[in-house]
Amino acid sequence: MLYQSFLIKYAEIGTKGKNRFLFEDALVSHICHALKRVDGKFDVTKDAGRIYVAALTEYDYEDVVEALKRVFGIAWICPMFQTEEREFEALKKQVIHYLDQVYPDKHLTFKVVSRRADKRYPVPSEQMNRDLGEAVLDAYPEMSVNVHEPDVLLRVEVRNTVVNIYSEMIPGPGGMPVGTNGKALLLLSGGIDSPVAGYMVAKRGVKIDAVYFHAPPYTSERAKQKVVDLAKLVSRYSGPIDLHVVNFTEIQMAIYETCPHEELTIIMRRYMMRIAERIAGETGSLALVTGESIGQVASQTVQSLAATNDVCTLPVFRPVIAFDKQEIVDISERIGTYETSILPYEDCCTIFVAKHPVTKPVLKAIRKSEAKLSGTIGELVEKAVSTRDVIRCV
Ligand code: ATP
Ligand code: MG
Repeated sequence: MLYQSFLIKYAEIGTKGKNRFLFEDALVSHICHALKRVDGKFDVTKDAGRIYVAALTEYDYEDVVEALKRVFGIAWICPMFQTEEREFEALKKQVIHYLDQVYPDKHLTFKVVSRRADKRYPVPSEQMNRDLGEAVLDAYPEMSVNVHEPDVLLRVEVRNTVVNIYSEMIPGPGGMPVGTNGKALLLLSGGIDSPVAGYMVAKRGVKIDAVYFHAPPYTSERAKQKVVDLAKLVSRYSGPIDLHVVNFTEIQMAIYETCPHEELTIIMRRYMMRIAERIAGETGSLALVTGESIGQVASQTVQSLAATNDVCTLPVFRPVIAFDKQEIVDISERIGTYETSILPYEDCCTIFVAKHPVTKPVLKAIRKSEAKLSGTIGELVEKAVSTRDVIRCV
């Protein structure tokens, strides 16, 4: 194996100052968790604003990089050589050895950027740059210096006990470690948009639970399994997701039998929100998340969104609200949910949709229609909430 360790640089720290250690500890724990999925043993440590992943056994480089690319909070993944040889002549040899190992073809331009994090180190960084550069040119005459656009930007960092040598920087996903920003409940359907919405909110450090409204026998077990699969795919980034599966059939039937059909979708969506709020309240989520996007369908016009939102008391995060469909598709392809999302299983909304749903619902009319449900709906909502299944998706 070429690299024994990785230097992890983290992205923006939302909790600077006194709380920074919480952010770092969360990141370390998520990195450990992500690496459990790959072969090999690793030691993950933090030291003065840096996080290190050291391989204790053989490992697969691609697998480790892929796993780290899914850990929110990581800005850069830098495979590196770390040496305890701090004596300058020995360090030169290490740098030459590094280039030899990492760049078999030496027809490259380079620049050395040194940093003395340990100010007691006797060689100032400017001099390190010059002397290390000279040593490289002596060892590899094919290489040449280019300070503006080098092929290889060789970084040499002198720390208290070790020196880090690296030149490759692989972009991480950015964002913040999951769990550093509270918890939210994602309304997860089998579509393209809601998994992307969950991914985006988790990326900001929010832990995610999910709720799926299932309408058997109108929606099949396969449709439910698809949602479980999507939750598992999102959990590769967000960490474990508790998926609450709510049986929505009786509520849908009651709405279908009692309310004007062109209002079905809006009323149904209002009940989804109400039930989601109940579950959020019971499980400690402080916000809801949906995959709604303005104008995508009749239930997502601004008027419809307002009518749906009317029943909500929690903040509703709609991260893809202003995205075009293609932009959402691009993200879902990148995060690996697209192929599952497009499997053609029915979702509970399509079965009960009217031919001509209202696109500009009038709140007063919606409330009036809902009032007709008042005799039975309270009990049905209680039953739906209390009989839900919870599936842990990892
Ligand atoms: P998606 O691609 O996420 O399914 P969509 O474009 O199909 O979205 P709708 O079906 O109108 O849009 O749903 C809008 C949002 O409502 C979804 O993004 C999701 O957050 C939520 N939602 C819809 N149906 C369900 C369901 N059966 N269970 C849970 N949430 C749902
Ligand atoms: Mg949908």
